[in-house]
Amino acid sequence: MKIVLEHLTKKFPGRNKKSREEVTAVNDFHFEIPDGKLVGLLGPSGCGKSTTLNLICGLQKPTGGRILFGEDDVTNLPPEHRGVGLVFQNYALYPHLTVKKNITFPLENLRGADKLTKTEMERRAYEAAKLVQIEELMERRPGELSGGQQQRVAIARALVKMPRVLLLDEPLSNLDARLRLQTREEIRRIQKQTQITTIFVTHDQDEAMSISDIIVVMKEGVVQQIGKPQDVYDNPVNLFVAKFLGTPPINVFQGTVKKEQLYIGGEAVLTVNGVADQEVSVGIRPEGFVLQEDGPMSCNLSRIEIMGRDISVVSTHKCCEAPSVRSIINAEAKVDTSSETVRFALKPQKLFLFRKETGERIH
Ligand code: ADP
Ligand code: MG
Repeated sequence: MKIVLEHLTKKFPGRNKKSREEVTAVNDFHFEIPDGKLVGLLGPSGCGKSTTLNLICGLQKPTGGRILFGEDDVTNLPPEHRGVGLVFQNYALYPHLTVKKNITFPLENLRGADKLTKTEMERRAYEAAKLVQIEELMERRPGELSGGQQQRVAIARALVKMPRVLLLDEPLSNLDARLRLQTREEIRRIQKQTQITTIFVTHDQDEAMSISDIIVVMKEGVVQQIGKPQDVYDNPVNLFVAKFLGTPPINVFQGTVKKEQLYIGGEAVLTVNGVADQEVSVGIRPEGFVLQEDGPMSCNLSRIEIMGRDISVVSTHKCCEAPSVRSIINAEAKVDTSSETVRFALKPQKLFLFRKETGERIH
């Protein structure tokens, strides 16, 4: 089922004694999430991700705008009538109940026409448990499970009511690195299998990029960019988005455009047709550097790091925002480590120009 967010806004009253100014946690979020897709909601802590989810599931009321599930306006519907499955960072399982009881718990409270028999509840619990591959653990208690298994129980519990929408709020944050990788693939598999429209919240760009059909990048309550992960990476609309996506992160330099030449430091590094003379921020992806003896851009070589398939050349440049410039080059390339400087040519499609004042992309 598609989810329509129409100019969704949430303001909180100011709590700070000094400033009574209200906080706009979500500001005019306007987007239609297509049916059956997994959307990654991505942004730094405090940007409004959880608030957006709380509005969608009904735990909070919007200050403005509407929410539709399919054609139904659910803006004023209480959470229990929305058909939403929720999973949070802390699995919040009942410690004294078995896995099976934890999973059937949301079904126990169904009343009236929705009321289920015990057999039916168990059947549904086993179905959900099978989906997340914990059917062998049904008689255990949460304390007897690993973090990853506990999170699977939480996911099974969210799925057991056969929700129309699945909302996951940083569900992998409490897991160690390896489990995080494994569980995110599981979530992707389960989502594909069930075709439930899913919103996955994370502050981890790598996580969002790897499992989402669509990513939404947020900053201070405002949506910055929406698109397929690769498209957003290849075509960021502003410096914030460019910096938020990618590991190692994009390298940012102070530059100047003069007569359609881009200068970084004193060097003309690239021809930029059609760009007016101005000061700019230059973003260069690590994979945008090509080692070249007579290349137009020179950096001070610090060291080489071998990362299996690739080589990372770490250098410094006086115009770079960060203490070091990180470039990734093919492992076959030869780097003269005795030299103090290293020269690069730049791949134009991996280099972006941004307005110095606003950070907005210059095309
Ligand atoms: P995220 O999940 O992206 O870390 P949140 O949605 O939790 O961000 O918060 C967004 C902003 O709204 C933050 O500035 C936060 O302090 C504020 N906020 C969230 N919940 C409340 C609340 N109940 N009362 C007041 N301010 C809140
Ligand atoms: Mg949050």
